[in-house]
Amino acid sequence: MFKFLKILIRNIFQGPATEAFPLAPAPTPDRFRGRVSINPDLCVGCGICKHVCTGGAINISPSDDKTGYHYTVWYNSCCLCGSCRYYCPTNAISIVNNWHNSHFQEEKYKMAETHFIPYMHCEGCGAPMRVLPPHIAAKIYAHSPVDVNKIIKLCPSCRQIATAEQQGELHESKPE
Ligand code: SF4
Ligand code: SF4
Repeated sequence: MFKFLKILIRNIFQGPATEAFPLAPAPTPDRFRGRVSINPDLCVGCGICKHVCTGGAINISPSDDKTGYHYTVWYNSCCLCGSCRYYCPTNAISIVNNWHNSHFQEEKYKMAETHFIPYMHCEGCGAPMRVLPPHIAAKIYAHSPVDVNKIIKLCPSCRQIATAEQQGELHESKPE
């Protein structure tokens, strides 16, 4: 009896051992995989995430007027494997700890993150393109003397030419 009373008094002072959810927010670890999230500013539309997606949860399709592309990730199909985040070359994808994904069956196609991501125009030839994120350009050209700020707004073809030209100019200007 004394043992029981001891446990009872201890539990009264400690409070409930279970979470109060849904009456209060459930504590969620920061790195918990709740849902995939995209940073449209960093996406260059390469399509690698769609290619590696285990659940077929990602779709990237050009807009009808060809001014950009629609990016969709369906929470319903995503198995949170993390492949898209791992392979995205620009770190545009993260997995956030928001796990509030419950929904009715008729809402399943609405459970998605969608973005319209517009194209810019290449400053060299005017072709539609996405700007290379500066932190990625800085990594790619870390050992090259080219001016990164001049080439990030160029399409891959113009970038190749500009890089070769800049390197050629620097080479020619070096004292013999
Ligand atoms: S892999 Fe990254 S940069 Fe490429 S389309 Fe997907 S989100 Fe965009
Ligand atoms: S976490 Fe896996 S299943 Fe989910 S969108 Fe990314 S690649 Fe697809």
